[in-house]
Amino acid sequence: MAIRRNDEQNASPRRPTGSGLLGPVTGFARAFGRTAAGMTLDLASGAARLGEATVDTLVGRHRAPGVLRVQVLILRDESGTPLCSADAVRPSLENAGRILQQHAGLRVRVVGVRTVSEIPPPEALDPRANRGLMIDDMLGHTAFYRRHLGAEVNDGVDPGLVAAPITVVVVRNIAGNTTGCSLGISADWVITQSTLYDAANPHSYDETVLAHELGHALNLPHHSDHANLMFPVSSPPQNVRGMALTRWQRAVLQTNRHVVPGRSGDPVDLG
Ligand SMILES: [Zn+2]
Repeated sequence: MAIRRNDEQNASPRRPTGSGLLGPVTGFARAFGRTAAGMTLDLASGAARLGEATVDTLVGRHRAPGVLRVQVLILRDESGTPLCSADAVRPSLENAGRILQQHAGLRVRVVGVRTVSEIPPPEALDPRANRGLMIDDMLGHTAFYRRHLGAEVNDGVDPGLVAAPITVVVVRNIAGNTTGCSLGISADWVITQSTLYDAANPHSYDETVLAHELGHALNLPHHSDHANLMFPVSSPPQNVRGMALTRWQRAVLQTNRHVVPGRSGDPVDLG
């Protein structure tokens, strides 16, 4: 009986295929540009929000919680069968909402759970993880994801949108002992393996991975405390990681460019 380890340490040795030199070069430039632009936006929005929050504290003004918009794209296998149902993803989404509300004062607003009708290519259905995924992103092998993010969501060429939703893509199998992967600041999407959402299989079902990957997409690195949401490994059913966040993690989340800041003095329901 294999224990699923939802870690991100074991990139597959599978090699990228195809592509001449121009693809990787422009892909690298694109990924680098996205990262640099994302960092600039995070710094700018973080500084602005810190200033606003300080003023609010000084004048005793109430501030409504910030809102993180999340959408889910469920892929189909070669025969056209969806990898999971929309209902199966709900507990993980609700869990992410609970964690971010409780520990970071943020509200998760689910803007859609869609099943992609187009059959994905093999590299999108069974992607590589970590460095492999990053290389594939540079080689253009993640184009399928970006193409289906939706008009409302940043297409990945220019992370110019503050408050862009984060997209969780449900894939079939991620190479290695990995069940979720994020490219961090350089992408507005993360991938998660469909077995995470299969409640009938306690050895793969894990409601923490979606929230963990959202944390990476919002710039959080790994944390060494097993009780923390950003602990790298989670092994259901016995040894699932905790869901705590520290104060500095909360600050990173609240100032992230993906978060729609709560209005001060005039709490409004954005969800
Ligand atoms: Zn991780």
